[in-house]
Amino acid sequence: MRSNLNANRLASYINLDDQSIEQFGAAKMKDLGWEQIMDSYACIMCFRCQEVCPAYNTGKLLSPAALEINKRYHFNGGGTTDVAMAELISEEAVWACTSCGACVDICPVGNEPMRDILDIRRNLSMMESAFPKQLETAFKGMERNMNPWNVSQGDRMKWAEGMSVPTIEQNAEPEILWWVGCAPATDSRAQKTAQAFAKILNTAGVNYAVLGKNEACNGDSARRAGREDIFFGLASQNVEILNEVAPKRIVTTCPHCLHTIKNEYPAFGGNYQVIHHTQLINELVGSGKISMNLEGDNMKITFHDPCYLGRHNKITDAPRDALQSAGAEMVEMPRNGAKSFCCGAGGAQMWKEEEEGSARVNEARFAEAKSTGADTVAVGCPFCLTMMTDAAKGEGSEIQVKDVAEIVAERLKT
Ligand code: SF4
Ligand code: SF4
Repeated sequence: MRSNLNANRLASYINLDDQSIEQFGAAKMKDLGWEQIMDSYACIMCFRCQEVCPAYNTGKLLSPAALEINKRYHFNGGGTTDVAMAELISEEAVWACTSCGACVDICPVGNEPMRDILDIRRNLSMMESAFPKQLETAFKGMERNMNPWNVSQGDRMKWAEGMSVPTIEQNAEPEILWWVGCAPATDSRAQKTAQAFAKILNTAGVNYAVLGKNEACNGDSARRAGREDIFFGLASQNVEILNEVAPKRIVTTCPHCLHTIKNEYPAFGGNYQVIHHTQLINELVGSGKISMNLEGDNMKITFHDPCYLGRHNKITDAPRDALQSAGAEMVEMPRNGAKSFCCGAGGAQMWKEEEEGSARVNEARFAEAKSTGADTVAVGCPFCLTMMTDAAKGEGSEIQVKDVAEIVAERLKT
């Protein structure tokens, strides 16, 4: 399917070692790239971006179409690029974006309203310290303990206690480097995904290792929230360690880690082959290294595509194939694959309150999942796991929410 979304263009690189840079992000329209300014003239006012925007769909102030149209009207009225972005889009709207990429993906003329929003956030966060207060905790965690959960690096392997999970010190030249990620390493619910995936790798006899205490947050939330300084520090440090390890392939259960390491670390000198855990699971099934027990109840499963997997990185078949190998009867939501609807946590939303609206994004998505009649919502991202679990709990639903790895591990023949 046609898509304008280019994973390498989500955020521009800023060399923070360059002391001559005076303006970070976009305070005024002239701070945007010329192609972003031209977007306003290209816009045909079809409102397709607005129709797919999860923030707009749940009654938030944000409309990506309104941003482009406001830019255009400003020029039509004789305005110049010296105009403050605040006159074209409100701060409340700017912070409602989940960076899901749906607006960019759908635009028939190739406009990228999301890029403007992320550039505006850079100005707000770095130049004006004007960001939602709740983000402070995640920022401090990433600065002090290298993860937004603010868990000490010393506790980063706690999830693997009692399991055999080799670190890079124990296995210096693994076939697969497993980038665990902050959520699976430190969030109690997501740890179950990590434990399930470890069970799969160990059962298959994969030669792998994790970075353990040497792994820091990939920096995705900092970058999407405009804190390029925090991102720059984490990305530089991670690339240095990864280049030392020189991994043949990296696997991760988190699409945010996958996206950032694969598409955004090359600007820092880090070029790696990165795959999602569902892709590795399929390889292991294909080569006969694992097989599943298919007897028992049939699971009716709907898969919620994470934006950073399906839309930003075009990986949509792998999770479904893995679920089918585990005996799932798949049912699809109306919005699926690269046209999926956000869970509401991307773009640093995970760390802040949602803006006021008519509904919460996760509840809207969970209602869609429920409408399929599935008994399980499968996810492939720790943020989606949290958001869908919260929505299910919120309404006392019996529908289970599980990562693909958990579903596979439950049926694994050992
Ligand atoms: S990236 Fe997603 S949430 Fe942000 S403006 Fe575009 S469609 Fe809306
Ligand atoms: S989808 Fe593109 S052309 Fe249509 S309103 Fe949005 S920015 Fe304008």
